[in-house]
Amino acid sequence: MDRISPNEFGHRTADGTTHRTYDYTAYYGVAFECACGTLHSLRPWMEVVSELPLFRFVVACPKGHHLTLVKARWDRDQGVRALYSELGTELGDKRNSTVGIEFQAGLLEAKTGRSWSLEETEAFMALHQDAAMQRRRAGAE
Ligand SMILES: [Zn+2]
Repeated sequence: MDRISPNEFGHRTADGTTHRTYDYTAYYGVAFECACGTLHSLRPWMEVVSELPLFRFVVACPKGHHLTLVKARWDRDQGVRALYSELGTELGDKRNSTVGIEFQAGLLEAKTGRSWSLEETEAFMALHQDAAMQRRRAGAE
């Protein structure tokens, strides 16, 4: 696994989507190497931050300070399912974001083609969270 900075991790996973489309049920209980340095078994409650093409996904460490890009492989002839860790990062200060402000800055940079300061990213995230909350509130009425 390549261990890189949160910002670089954001750049390299920027083609991911937060919309979950993969079926993980076949991989529950399968171990993967987490960026925190230990093995975790994939569980239904774990936070999948984004999904990338070819059944790759970013999963948050249950301890909350690492992200790992994992590729799911299913050898149908052997009936073996495995999870390969490709990239990992350690998040710094989590602040207002659930997945790290530096990671978010990297995502935004890759998506917009310009650089984002941590302050600017934090303001954007706060706005985004407000909007999501208002949508949720509106939907509940
Ligand atoms: Zn971990």
